[in-house]
Amino acid sequence: ETPILEVRDLVKHYPVRRGAFGRGAGVVRAVDGVSFRIPRGRTVGLVGESGSGKSTTARLANRLVEPTSGQVLFDGADLLATRGRELKALRSRMQMVFQDPYGSLNPRMTVFDIVGEPLEVHGVSRGRARTARVTELLETVGLSGRDLYRFPHQFSGGQAQRIGIARALATNPDVIFCDESVSALDVSVQAQILNLLKRLQRELGLSYLFIAHDLNVVRYMADELCVMYMGEIVERGDSDAVFADPRHPYTQLLLAAIPGHDPATAKAKDRAVARGEVPSPSAPPSGCRFHTRCPFAFERCTAEAPRLRTSPATGRAAACHLLDDTSEGGPS
Ligand code: SF4
Ligand code: MG
Repeated sequence: ETPILEVRDLVKHYPVRRGAFGRGAGVVRAVDGVSFRIPRGRTVGLVGESGSGKSTTARLANRLVEPTSGQVLFDGADLLATRGRELKALRSRMQMVFQDPYGSLNPRMTVFDIVGEPLEVHGVSRGRARTARVTELLETVGLSGRDLYRFPHQFSGGQAQRIGIARALATNPDVIFCDESVSALDVSVQAQILNLLKRLQRELGLSYLFIAHDLNVVRYMADELCVMYMGEIVERGDSDAVFADPRHPYTQLLLAAIPGHDPATAKAKDRAVARGEVPSPSAPPSGCRFHTRCPFAFERCTAEAPRLRTSPATGRAAACHLLDDTSEGGPS
């Protein structure tokens, strides 16, 4: 089956000036050769430290930002070759739910206008039909018609995020990009919103690209996991499998940092300690970009970039020289 969304070798380089005294321009490799697919009705989680390229990846995939190179296939259609009305129609099938529920809702607009605005794409712009549809959307997310003419600040953070979700649903999207969508909420409210997203997925057949720095949240939501480091995917695979048995040293480090997490690879937990800061994205390390922090780095790591290799047996992928000669096991 065609995945609802597939990105192939997506690249975004931003030009930067290195300094004022003519030391020349460089590039920030914000996203550097990212590939993944989201099957219909499934959730792909994107994890990694801030600045690893997660949000940029989402913005490239729905073309809020133009990629430097690569391919985006939405429901089999080449999104980057699409223009005009066709592009608008395709993009209306991809929506975003952002981190800050208040910041992403216009404080001067009523719920009716906020949720109803995207309906104009479908020509449902006025009258009873619009009122009926907005009311239906509000009920879908656990609000009601009584909320139609209230303003965002009259709602709690969790309710405001429900408004953001109702707005995202207005165009009947196939894919929703959730970029830290529950990070700003209290833990108890987080659970309610996550369960709402899960229910909507079941009922509407939605697919999610789910970005979060909180690994417990991602673990709860994602069927598949992509781990990013400095603009690249370093590990990818079935979410439960990756959590149970992380292969890449960076994934091991991330999981070891979860409070109370006890990975099967206990040795890795002891050894995968962060060494140093994340390098500057405008001057990534040679070879494996993780080598400056990797507890297992050896000579080859500074000279040669490891390729992301997929094991045909398990579908799992990791980019690490230590994993080159075997499809099973990892550094331990
Ligand atoms: Fe560590 Fe080398 Fe593997 Fe990179 S390639 S993760 S530096 S062992
Ligand atoms: Mg981000």
